[in-house]
Amino acid sequence: MSQQSTQSGSNPSSAHEEFEILMMGALDGELSQGEQASLQSHLQGCASCSQKLAQYRHLVDLTDSLRLEEPQDYELDRFWNTLYNRMERRSAWWFLVIGVVGVTSALMFEVFRTDLLAWWLKAGLGLVATGFLLLFVSVLRVRLRTLPYDRYREVHR
Ligand SMILES: [Zn+2]
Repeated sequence: MSQQSTQSGSNPSSAHEEFEILMMGALDGELSQGEQASLQSHLQGCASCSQKLAQYRHLVDLTDSLRLEEPQDYELDRFWNTLYNRMERRSAWWFLVIGVVGVTSALMFEVFRTDLLAWWLKAGLGLVATGFLLLFVSVLRVRLRTLPYDRYREVHR
């Protein structure tokens, strides 16, 4: 696609958009040699894309300089905050588990002890409670597994 771009403005606008994507890649340093070459040759013939790239560069420099102004232990603070949040959430889940299992068990105990209910009603309630607890536990296991916890385990500071 690079051979036809001898004058600026001769490319269809979709080609410019393609090069805009390449520019993003170039700013992130993610381009292959071939992509870099084709971007380079397009930029030589296209004033508007060159200008755009200069603007993007400026933006990237700006954000980089902003990032450098942050206090050095910012990352450390963030690490502890996320760890704390995560532990908080974990504890919340465990409180929920203990509460739900405890309350359900106590209710079942009362249900089976009382003389007011027929045996088949007790059996039905027992099934409902068992099903509820099994569902609860299986949902919870998925939830606990998907908590993004392990990502930070390897980070030692
Ligand atoms: Zn262009």
